[in-house]
Amino acid sequence: MEIPSLNKQQEFTLASVTDLTSPDSSLSSSSVVATFSYVNEVNELRFQESDSSDGFSFDLSSTQLFKLGQLQFICVADSSGSAMEKSSFSRGVVIKFRDEKESKEFCDSFEECKKDSVKQGSSLPNGTVVSANKSKFDDKIEAASAKMYFHYYGQLLHQQNMLQDYVRTGTYHAAVMENRSDFSGRVVVDVGAGSGILSLFAALAGAKHVYAVEASEMAEYARKLIAGNPLLAERITVIKGKIEDIELPEKADVLISEPMGTLLVNERMLETYVIARDRFLSPNGKMFPTVGRIHMAPFADEFLFVEMANKALFWQQQNYYGVDLTPLYVSAHQGYFSQPVVDAFDPRLLVAPSMFHLIDFTKMTEEQFYEIDIPLKFTASVCTRIHGLACWFDVLFDGSTVQRWFTTAPGAPTTHWYQIRCVLSQPIHVMAGQEITGRLHLVAHSAQSYTINLTLSAKMWGPGANQGGILQTSSCKLDLKEPYYRMSQPQVYPTQEPPAQSQDIHIHSDDLEEVELLQQTANAQL
Ligand code: SAH
Repeated sequence: MEIPSLNKQQEFTLASVTDLTSPDSSLSSSSVVATFSYVNEVNELRFQESDSSDGFSFDLSSTQLFKLGQLQFICVADSSGSAMEKSSFSRGVVIKFRDEKESKEFCDSFEECKKDSVKQGSSLPNGTVVSANKSKFDDKIEAASAKMYFHYYGQLLHQQNMLQDYVRTGTYHAAVMENRSDFSGRVVVDVGAGSGILSLFAALAGAKHVYAVEASEMAEYARKLIAGNPLLAERITVIKGKIEDIELPEKADVLISEPMGTLLVNERMLETYVIARDRFLSPNGKMFPTVGRIHMAPFADEFLFVEMANKALFWQQQNYYGVDLTPLYVSAHQGYFSQPVVDAFDPRLLVAPSMFHLIDFTKMTEEQFYEIDIPLKFTASVCTRIHGLACWFDVLFDGSTVQRWFTTAPGAPTTHWYQIRCVLSQPIHVMAGQEITGRLHLVAHSAQSYTINLTLSAKMWGPGANQGGILQTSSCKLDLKEPYYRMSQPQVYPTQEPPAQSQDIHIHSDDLEEVELLQQTANAQL
């Protein structure tokens, strides 16, 4: 479709337009037109009968469009942002289209012109007319990244991948069903609804109404899926748009969402989750999930280390068809070590009890996600060579009836998040009982991910260590956006007897106890 320009008018013929503030003034003759145009520095949407001058206009910067059906929409303008309407009331019209093609074209034009109006508003010289609808999302996220991101989630195969993660979806289902009292008769917002599955769960648990908000094209599929479940459909409204941009007609009692990425924070969707909290959740509302924890522990994995180092050896060739490749060896080596490794590893590779960093979704501000600084302190359980830091996460559904944890820990049933490991190009040596300190510093970037800075240090072992307290320190910088998915590699970890070296590992971390508990619960449920 051609993108409408600011100076060009776009006209659509409609079946009817009903003004909600005065229903008698419906425009329903055969020639009702909606026109997008740029008038007096304002992007405007005007409804009128083509043979008369009667009609009304909306300032697009403060106008929202809600879909009621394939051919029917509500268009609502917030009076405060409107240049045309000076009254203190919002104005709404119900518009009907003659066919789906026209309705789709109208929606596309609406979105394009609205985007333009927001840009226009924010760039006015005195800065006074910054639209209330200026998207926080577009401000901080590169358009190219967002486009790829929503394209990805717009595809059924990726939603299926999440739905087929039964540990994930099953835990959400259980958390909702066993906490029916939190959903029954309540207004729920599904933040990033995808296929709409969590909205359907909430409706199954008796929600009064669910607003399923989804920014990608998946919103259309969600509509279809929900419509095909008619007993639930009447209590679910799908809204296509970003949480940061859309408006809802009422406050929510409960937010439900699955905003977790690798290392919990990847994709930066937790920011959207807390924006939804601030915009739509009533003060004592509940959040499913409620808190999240990033767990961390140092690991020793000689296989992984050698595998990564070996990849760069390709660039050691001095006679590659007569060409010396060595000038790029160092860069290639750095490149491999800047990729976090994603796979499911054996928890026996952990060489110290884990620690965790708590992220409370009910309290964190959006800005607090921009930079996350975690001081590290571990006590080595064995004498070993540490190759880096292993990380995983869990989240808590703090229901009124049952508190349920969902974990992605090593050793627990594997999820599509697996675990993540940051590998140091310079391993460090420790003795059992020795303290390991460091820092995990995460800095958000505009491609919906984080730069990871990791430093691990341990006192030098051997002559001179006691006098000077000399530290061995190893650091690495990784891009969480560029993981190395190692799942296709053969898993070489021992399944029977652990190797002699790691027989003295005694990890008594809370996590492992929790994992065992979860496994027991899972077994009990089978
Ligand atoms: N709730 C679904 C999908 C989870 S994946 C399920 O549990 O199966 C996260 C979804 O959130 C994706 O479909 C993505 O398109 C959507 N999303 C991400 N950021 C969003 C935003 N800012 N506004 C609306 N939807 C968003």
